[in-house]
Amino acid sequence: MRIRAAVALLAVAALAGCSADSSPMPIAKPFTTTLGPSPATTERPAPPKCDPRASLAPAGALPPPGKMPAGSYMETIQKRGRLVLGTSQDTLLFSSRNPFNGQIEGFDVDMGRQIAQAIFGDPGKIQIKVIGYDKRVSSAADGSVDIVADTMTANCERWVDVDFSTIYYEAGQKVLVSKNSTAKTIEDLGGKRICSVQGSTSFDRIATVKAKPVAVARAAFGDCLVAFQRNEVDAITTDDTILAGMAVQDPYAKVIGDKISEEPYAMAMSNEHPEFTRFVNAVLERNRADGTWKKTYEKWLSALGPAPTPPKAKYR
Ligand code: GLU
Repeated sequence: MRIRAAVALLAVAALAGCSADSSPMPIAKPFTTTLGPSPATTERPAPPKCDPRASLAPAGALPPPGKMPAGSYMETIQKRGRLVLGTSQDTLLFSSRNPFNGQIEGFDVDMGRQIAQAIFGDPGKIQIKVIGYDKRVSSAADGSVDIVADTMTANCERWVDVDFSTIYYEAGQKVLVSKNSTAKTIEDLGGKRICSVQGSTSFDRIATVKAKPVAVARAAFGDCLVAFQRNEVDAITTDDTILAGMAVQDPYAKVIGDKISEEPYAMAMSNEHPEFTRFVNAVLERNRADGTWKKTYEKWLSALGPAPTPPKAKYR
């Protein structure tokens, strides 16, 4: 078990780190543990109907970097001199601290850097704000960040409060258990403690599992990994992408079953300046076509298999 303890320590160290390019993490609230479905899940009204994958079409060709159209939100960002990106700091492969240099990096961070590149001609003109999973929608909606790229599923409920870009990755929820577990799917985990993060689609879905596992909430997925390594929970459920990053860190863990949901990832922005959503979609469109998306996948996500074709853009 020594390796496992070391891995847990590394995860804790990564959580505690800080770097110059990002805002300090607010003091973490005490862990919350929820037994059974969260009240928020059972009381929530049905989401409105929509096609969550359909976004706003680009408005013509991209302006050259450094020459954002007058009066546009892109010009506001350009004048400020940096793009403010909201993301996590403990989602290995997508956005996590590099323990050697303290920088937050990954596929999602590169999605943000590519928007900065299109605005400034420099992917480094970015400020990373670490936000909780349950603050992704509100941070995008109230403008405390310009854009959220944080393994965030575009769904109809969230579309009410924010604009989403077109889809940049198709994920799906799975389950991580101990290597010696005989469970094949989440339905084999009746009565077992399953960790997830409040404010995530996976946490809400635990309440719908017929076998009735016990939902355990943690503030971030890094905390779920530490809880799993301390035997405080028997399993973790979240997107296959996030679980792949955990499995890389824990030789005693395995990911089981088929995807139990569709989790199409998109970047979220305030819906008060749709020209920015159209601009972001134009950048994504170009990056799918010129091989940038594929290169970014190969840089970060080869643990998930060979690069698939990037998700096709859909517009309203
Ligand atoms: N894609 C999920 C969401 O946006 C996050 C991960 C999860 O649900 O486990 O809520």
